[in-house]
Amino acid sequence: MGLNFKALADTFALRELAAGMAVTLRHMFKPHITIQYPEERTPLSPRFRGEHALRRDECGKERCVACKLCEAVCPAQAIYIEIDPTSTAEQRLTKVYSIDETKCIFCGFCQEACPVDAIVLGPNFEFHGYRREDLYYDKAKLLANGERWKNEIDANLAADAKYR
Ligand code: SF4
Ligand code: SF4
Repeated sequence: MGLNFKALADTFALRELAAGMAVTLRHMFKPHITIQYPEERTPLSPRFRGEHALRRDECGKERCVACKLCEAVCPAQAIYIEIDPTSTAEQRLTKVYSIDETKCIFCGFCQEACPVDAIVLGPNFEFHGYRREDLYYDKAKLLANGERWKNEIDANLAADAKYR
């Protein structure tokens, strides 16, 4: 194998380093394409599918009418519902409503299937758990999410309403 004088000269002259620094210098004065998360955030689509929430109506009553359509349509079988036996024809309620977020694939089918806009995928993507149980959401947690993100969810549903 012969000696590659060009490669040797490039190494001694630090040409690769200079080329790299030139790229850095060129980009230093261009507009930034990255943001300083979490202080800065990019806009989210109204259709963004984040953490689940159960909504209440204007009177504070649960919107869910325990029809189980969301449970039936879920391809990941992440939703489990039990109907409250005290439900009446006027008001059907769930006794148990849970979503296993570790199974969920965030397809949004549950939201699409819901006839009363009760279950939605909200704008929150900053959720986590240290244990599997932390991501097993019961009804109380889902309703609390609905309260917490109410304004954002209402605005997103209103923005998307004309396309549904
Ligand atoms: S988003 Fe999809 S996978 Fe997740 S609970 Fe809803 S239907 Fe199931
Ligand atoms: S969340 Fe909607 S689709 Fe699911 S059981 Fe309740 S009313 Fe039916």
